[in-house]
Amino acid sequence: MSRVVFGPPMLAFLPAISLSAFWFGGESALLAVALGLPLTYAVLGGFSKSRETTPGRDELTGFLLAPGFETHVRDVFDRTEGTGLKSALVVVEIDEFDALVAAHGQDAGDIVMQRVGERMRSILRHRDTIARLGRNRFAICLTPIMQLDLELCIQLAGRLQFRIEEPIKFGGTSLFVSCSIGICQRHRVPKDAGSSWLDCAVAALDEALVVGPSSIRAYSSDTHVHLDRTVNLMEDAASALQNGMIQAWFQPQICTDTGRVSGFEALARWCHPVKGMIPPSAFLPALEHAGLLQKLSQVMVEQALTALKSWDAAGLKVPTVGVNFATDELRDPGLVNRIRWELDRFGLTPDRLTIEVLETVMTDQPDEVVARNITALGEMGCHIDLDDFGTGHASIASVRRFRVSRIKIDRSFVTKADHDPEQQKMITAILTMAERLDLKTLAEGVETAGEHALLAQLGCDHVQGFGIGRPMPFDQTIDWVINHEAKLQDAPAIGRQRP
Ligand code: C2E
Ligand code: CA
Ligand code: CA
Repeated sequence: MSRVVFGPPMLAFLPAISLSAFWFGGESALLAVALGLPLTYAVLGGFSKSRETTPGRDELTGFLLAPGFETHVRDVFDRTEGTGLKSALVVVEIDEFDALVAAHGQDAGDIVMQRVGERMRSILRHRDTIARLGRNRFAICLTPIMQLDLELCIQLAGRLQFRIEEPIKFGGTSLFVSCSIGICQRHRVPKDAGSSWLDCAVAALDEALVVGPSSIRAYSSDTHVHLDRTVNLMEDAASALQNGMIQAWFQPQICTDTGRVSGFEALARWCHPVKGMIPPSAFLPALEHAGLLQKLSQVMVEQALTALKSWDAAGLKVPTVGVNFATDELRDPGLVNRIRWELDRFGLTPDRLTIEVLETVMTDQPDEVVARNITALGEMGCHIDLDDFGTGHASIASVRRFRVSRIKIDRSFVTKADHDPEQQKMITAILTMAERLDLKTLAEGVETAGEHALLAQLGCDHVQGFGIGRPMPFDQTIDWVINHEAKLQDAPAIGRQRP
């Protein structure tokens, strides 16, 4: 009824009503009706209601926005009930969109969303409905058909992904984007409620996002568990840190000259009693969001120093432990005093602690407090490791200024280095630079004996990676070191052969 009263059908009666008013009441009645009716219509909210019922469209892509899409999804859900017709929702999210906008600007973000929209349209059928659900998210409701199994849905998602991930021209450069995709087939929706269909597709997408960039996941009966898990991850990370559930695991580092353990890197792990071991990529953003990175570094330093004391007590020679510090942690003006106090409390000298700083932190103009902290920690006697070297743009001047003692060559240069001459050239260049600057070197992500041998031969000082040992909880480290030392007695170490 309200649709008739407030909607366009009302217009059909206006001339008749006006004419009748004139017929029965004369000119004054006509005036009253002609002015009064639109006024009453406006007062009763008729104008705004008519706007609300028109589903909005995204200006950039011309696709439906969320409200219109949700109505459409409910409609398809209801229409297909008991008909044997099949449909699916596909939700597509551009990975690391914020980083792309930060690096290239909002215009680049808009171009990406526009091109991605065009590419999706070019692959889909005319009657499939596409919507823009957020800054970097699209959703598709496939038009119902008789034959649509999971295999077909996954193939379609693969085609979409392949097309979307082709380079996008922007100005003089190419932008490389990847996307993650969640799928939910109509008949997989657990409850008889159309609105939860989209929730299920988004849950599948959330699962894809947790697994990593450029992933595809389809909704299954387990997915909601994962969804809860993702949501809870964000909510629970803070209390896990307060309750001591976030622990340091330790990954060994080996000296290529002697083969002996030259240190461990402390890596944060959330050991959840029910959900198992959760990696830092899943909870660091939540801690950062909650402003708790400072607390994390306190926990990690304390556990690293506790581990050093225990290795010392066990008679093992572990010279140093590396702790990762994010930029936010390095912004703490009280950091140096806190670390000095912690070292004193444990009765350890500063050279037992290595501060791992990402190469991206050491730009030409770092934050003043960050610069002061790194310099002061170096002067105090802590080692400074430049992490992920080769992925950022640290200047040689800042490497000098910050008293960096060692560079950690990023895993991307190390992978398959024993088979790839290009990788070897890069590593050789980095090692030569390091030697000239009198810096020690460590290669990260060494996975095979071939990579280990090559790095030793090229003159890299230390190696770390799954090929040597995976990160492990503290209570496995003592046995690991003892076993490693025992193996050294039996086998000759891989020595370096400097030319
Ligand atoms: P990162 O500092 O570059 O740490 C090395 C990462 O590479 C670790 O991942 C380690 O498990 C992994 N890795 C080591 N060897 C290999 C290998 O041979 N192959 C492969 N594929 N991976 C290897 P993890 O523990 O997941 O840590 C990821 C990142 O999270 C770290 O990268 C670091 O940036 C950050 N992180 C970890 N713990 C902390 C922490 O306590 N504080 C802060 N701020 N960041 C942390
Ligand atoms: Ca590190
Ligand atoms: Ca690293």
